[in-house]
Amino acid sequence: MRAVDIIIKKRDQGELTRDEIEFFINGFVSGDIADYQASAFAMAVLLNGMTPRETTDLTLAMAHSGQVLDLSDVVDLAVDKHSSGGVGDKTSLAVLPIVAAGGLPVGKMSGRGLGFSGGTLDKLESIPGYRVDLTTDEFKKQLKDKGIVLTGQSLDLAPADGKLYALRDVTGTVQSIPLIASSIMCKKLAAGAQAILLDVKTGLGAFMETLDEARRLAGLMVDIGNLAGREVVALLSDMNQPLGNAVGNSLEVIEAIESLKGGGPEDFREHCLHVSAHMLVLGKRARDLVEGRAMAEKSIADGSAFEKLCVLVQAQGGDVSYVEDTSKFPGAAYVESVESPQNGYLAQIQARSVGEAAVTLGAGRAKKSDAIDHAVGFIIHCKVGDKIEKGKPLFTIHANDETKLAEAREAVLAAHSFSADKIAPLPLFYN
Ligand code: URA
Repeated sequence: MRAVDIIIKKRDQGELTRDEIEFFINGFVSGDIADYQASAFAMAVLLNGMTPRETTDLTLAMAHSGQVLDLSDVVDLAVDKHSSGGVGDKTSLAVLPIVAAGGLPVGKMSGRGLGFSGGTLDKLESIPGYRVDLTTDEFKKQLKDKGIVLTGQSLDLAPADGKLYALRDVTGTVQSIPLIASSIMCKKLAAGAQAILLDVKTGLGAFMETLDEARRLAGLMVDIGNLAGREVVALLSDMNQPLGNAVGNSLEVIEAIESLKGGGPEDFREHCLHVSAHMLVLGKRARDLVEGRAMAEKSIADGSAFEKLCVLVQAQGGDVSYVEDTSKFPGAAYVESVESPQNGYLAQIQARSVGEAAVTLGAGRAKKSDAIDHAVGFIIHCKVGDKIEKGKPLFTIHANDETKLAEAREAVLAAHSFSADKIAPLPLFYN
């Protein structure tokens, strides 16, 4: 078999066999197949697509390109979650403690920010000392002893995806549904989950901008998971406006902590309760969503979810005093409130622009090697559909650089658009 023939077959709209896909992925990981050939392969897939069967074979080949975790000696049923990425999405920081408090052990490997979309690891690192580089043995031990783990992906997990993703990022081949689906699912399968909750975001601040694309991605990932013998539930959630109010690393951690203490923005709380309820059902701790939601609400009300967050932070070397007293998080040098320029109803908050403006402030990376500024970001005060009065605070900027602050002010102001007519609020989830 030759790599070039496989590329030509996909270029000419052929359907690849499992052997051909495995040959290509194994050769790519071993270095026998060059980066330029893998890039050409990715472009051929982007242009011509893959059948669900091909996508499943690609997913399994990538999942088996490294270590595949077996968690059966640690937990009776391993449940994982994945968000397809968005702006202000700090869901894992609240949901993991909630479901762990409900008696479901959860261990999750998360990623860093990608473009305008924030990453859980960058957020967690705003807690001094918090380790995101647990070894597989440490992961398993903590899952067994503490019932909660939130760390980075170990290097040996699905290395084919790491290599291919780096090429896709710079060859214009990220936006392919089979490539995104296989990239997400191979990591979930390799991480040992038997049941998976997928939070597929759709809208202006998501990789899948239309509901139709998000539905196709969700359906494909469910099919792949099922074909691989996993139970998978996919939720379609709105990402036209930022989730919650905070965008930026420590600001989001603080918002998640407030939510676990019973406060926080209503949309974020609702989102977390719904995701948690699904995970508790998938993990067989709740009979149905009603019971799962009641368990999630109770764990917030009785403080056990917040307690679980403290257990997690302590277990991973983080300074718990920051979680207990969020005023300890270092603030930004400039905090500026920006007022609404007009009366009316809020018609849109362009979430992607807000995410990009946060990257401008330093909350994300323009280049892979950039350092993150954990203190900067925004608090967005209004939601689509809110009645707005001229002169009332619209958003607050937290910045460490005056020039960047001015740039961000313009960008986030332009991201808000207004209507004289009443506007319906956005749903949190779609069917
Ligand atoms: N997240 C991933 O892990 N992979 C993709 O391709 C896109 C989002």
